[in-house]
Amino acid sequence: MADKLCRHGRQLCSECIFVTDSAKRAHDIVNSYVAFIPYDQRIRSWVAIKLADGGSDGTLYESKRAAVRHQSDEFTAAYFSYRGSPNGFSTVKDAAIWLEFVRQAYDSGFRLPDPDDAHGGPDLIMPMPNEHVGLQLDRFHGSN
Ligand SMILES: [Zn+2]
Repeated sequence: MADKLCRHGRQLCSECIFVTDSAKRAHDIVNSYVAFIPYDQRIRSWVAIKLADGGSDGTLYESKRAAVRHQSDEFTAAYFSYRGSPNGFSTVKDAAIWLEFVRQAYDSGFRLPDPDDAHGGPDLIMPMPNEHVGLQLDRFHGSN
């Protein structure tokens, strides 16, 4: 999938991305915490979203390390932090882009979740606006 380009020549395109049920589920889970977890707690919290279906283990973690360590295989999940997005995803499309970005980062060999790391592994800051995400993905795939 990562090697197929859309009609705009991008690996990941906010105009062409197909919003899957996984993305809708991830969006709903992440945004549900916004309603009942206070801001000060939320911005220090993480959710592990399963790449396979956008579901979670129903836990709001207080660190990425805790979230990573509770997965049987850390690469089956993406780790959402409210630090930079205290109100969750703005749209389901944003959730779809984020999930696909993490998938492609893993596929490209980025070891983002690391249960042995004190902080649970490095964070890859997803570039904004969305079309810069494509440039980052080009770099993952060595086509830059
Ligand atoms: Zn496109």
